[in-house]
Amino acid sequence: MKEIILIKTGEIALKGLNKSSFEDVLVKNIKWRLHSLGPFKFRKAQSTIYCEPQSDDMDLDEACRRVSHVFGIAAFSRARVAAKDFEDICAQALDFLGEELEYADTFKVEAKRADKSFPMKSPEICRELGGRILEQYHHLKVDVEQPDVLVMVEIRETAAYIHGKQLPGAGGIPIGTSGKAAILISGGIDSPVAGYMMAKRGLELTGVHFASPPYTSERAKRKVIALMEKMAEYCGRMKLFVVPFTEIQEQIRDRCPEELFTIIMRRFMMRIADQLARKQDCGALITGESVGQVASQTVKAIACTDIVTDLPVFRPVIGMDKREIIAIANEIDTFETSILPYEDCCTVFTPKHPRTRPRLDLVEAAEQTLDVDGLIAGAVAGIELVEIKKIRLVDGKR
Ligand code: ATP
Ligand code: MG
Repeated sequence: MKEIILIKTGEIALKGLNKSSFEDVLVKNIKWRLHSLGPFKFRKAQSTIYCEPQSDDMDLDEACRRVSHVFGIAAFSRARVAAKDFEDICAQALDFLGEELEYADTFKVEAKRADKSFPMKSPEICRELGGRILEQYHHLKVDVEQPDVLVMVEIRETAAYIHGKQLPGAGGIPIGTSGKAAILISGGIDSPVAGYMMAKRGLELTGVHFASPPYTSERAKRKVIALMEKMAEYCGRMKLFVVPFTEIQEQIRDRCPEELFTIIMRRFMMRIADQLARKQDCGALITGESVGQVASQTVKAIACTDIVTDLPVFRPVIGMDKREIIAIANEIDTFETSILPYEDCCTVFTPKHPRTRPRLDLVEAAEQTLDVDGLIAGAVAGIELVEIKKIRLVDGKR
């Protein structure tokens, strides 16, 4: 009894001539996600990717769970493979969906015949198979509008496939098909959500984290790594660059007006992220900022930080309330890690009264007291690279 996963590509179908290369990237991403479960074979045909386990003892429940988090998939189903023979189709359908049918009140058979050489037409398959199901389960009724159980039969080139209702995929487009972007990642709630949202639009992520030891601890850094290991469930493999930020923060504290500390610090973050992004072939920066959330996220403050980079800055949570951001953080399981109480460099030396409407000329004047290029070069020289390869799940499974 062979089972496979049938994967329907969603928005990819709109990509015209690029469709095939989009599908190739999608297959590569699914492969990466499934390889630790054992060997799968992949085949593409008619906006469907066939994902076939190569041995009988593979965990298809877990494979389906993983597939449900891969971007670029509209819907998928676990399907039973039958010979293109009506008797075998009936036998496999009753065996595969029998338990569901037993506990259901209503059902419906749907058939699609991509292989027109199959001798029965779709309505005939529905009628005949429906009859067989009713013979076996007397309590069932047919409901064509909202059946409890859908029995779907797809007759394709290589075989017949039987499955129930399709499950929704993660949507979006395959990671990598929109290029790369650098995500400024703190240990907070917002930035992992921002990264997830942009990965959904096909961006491969590179993490940039600013750490200020000894003001921020090793545990705070490990928390960021843990967050990215959670994000990897959706975002795939990533690199994380940890930038030493202590010297810069101390110099700003010592030489600049206190109320401009945060804004100047954020301008340094943007400049360093910009440099790193270009080296890593990233075409954009991503942050988890949301208008009005804190003093550094007012319209004027954002204008002062954006001006130091020519790269587009994506802020997917810019118009969201904290509550809405938290809902997504829970969905992708980063929330519990985000609220662990380790300090971030943003909370080191925070001014009592930060300027919410900083004036660019005053900010620039304050920066004149600093060796901006020298400080940036020093920080860049000390960058540590962490490869995020494993995936951290709630129950400790990888
Ligand atoms: P939260 O608001 O939940 O604490 P946050 O991630 O939004 O989390 P903020 O202090 O609001 O943290 O910072 C706004 C944005 O600036 C972050 O979303 C992130 O993109 C960036 N950022 C802040 N601190 C750091 C850091 N230490 N390293 C890299 N980026 C940072
Ligand atoms: Mg925030």
